[in-house]
Amino acid sequence: MYFNNETVLYLDRRFVKANESTTDLYSQTLHYGYGAFEGIRSYETEHGTNVFKAEEHYKRLKKSCELVKIPFDYTVQELVEATYELLKKNNLKNAYIRPLVYCGQNMSLSKPTSVSVMIAAWDWGAYLGDKLLRLTVSSYCRPHPKSIHIEAKVCGHYVNSILATNEAKENGFDEALLLDSDGFLAEGPGANLFFEKDGKLFTPQLGNILPGITRSTVLELAEQLGLELHQGKFTKEALFQADSAFFCGTAAEVVGILSVDTYQFPKNWNDSLGKKLQDAYSLLVREPLKQLNLN
Ligand code: PMP
Repeated sequence: MYFNNETVLYLDRRFVKANESTTDLYSQTLHYGYGAFEGIRSYETEHGTNVFKAEEHYKRLKKSCELVKIPFDYTVQELVEATYELLKKNNLKNAYIRPLVYCGQNMSLSKPTSVSVMIAAWDWGAYLGDKLLRLTVSSYCRPHPKSIHIEAKVCGHYVNSILATNEAKENGFDEALLLDSDGFLAEGPGANLFFEKDGKLFTPQLGNILPGITRSTVLELAEQLGLELHQGKFTKEALFQADSAFFCGTAAEVVGILSVDTYQFPKNWNDSLGKKLQDAYSLLVREPLKQLNLN
């Protein structure tokens, strides 16, 4: 359950009770997936609650709306402030935060008649768990970047993710790994991919994937750790020769991958670059000042 009788939501610049809030059944977002959202995490730190990379997330939300032409007249700053207020009102510190921009009544495919912004927050553990993942290469590929704006976090895009995750689970795996429409490695249904080979780190380049905020944090951490890093187009055969691999995303954080189909990564996770980055990420989000002092 994501809410109880006390839960408060942010809706159109007001705070309202979750159990008194309703949705229009003629919403264009409900019927056509025409909306945008974010996934953010907050962490309890020594210096109070830290909504990790809040500005980056709301900038991406604004960008997603711009790309798909959903009018959005909020500032990043007011949404960041609203998020801190929402956490306080719900007495949440370590939370998952879900902003959603959705459209009002309109059963045609024309411009939205009205736009709403809601933010919900709840307690949510590691999205993919903390065990090493057993992945399968999905029979679904990521949507072609000329069909949609793949760099936008748009509601309707997630049908592709749901199909891939469910297929993987039905086949006995933990999660899917999707290729792009040219057959190159892309990403997970809700996370970006990295892999390690001969002490170097590799990740699919931007263009056919969601530009993850965790992905850019991992890239920054890798640079700080002095790791050699390559962004490019990689085939799944390259992954099947890798030493180790991991997924990263706001909900999943940094999570190691045990295997992809029948290929098991030979390197012990605890000795991998992924583990180093997982530790660095965990420190950065929970003890940001300590991280700063380290470098
Ligand atoms: N790829 C997809 C398809 C996603 O849904 C997500 C989660 N937002 C990510 C990657 C990771 O993005 P982020 O690190 O910004 O959460």
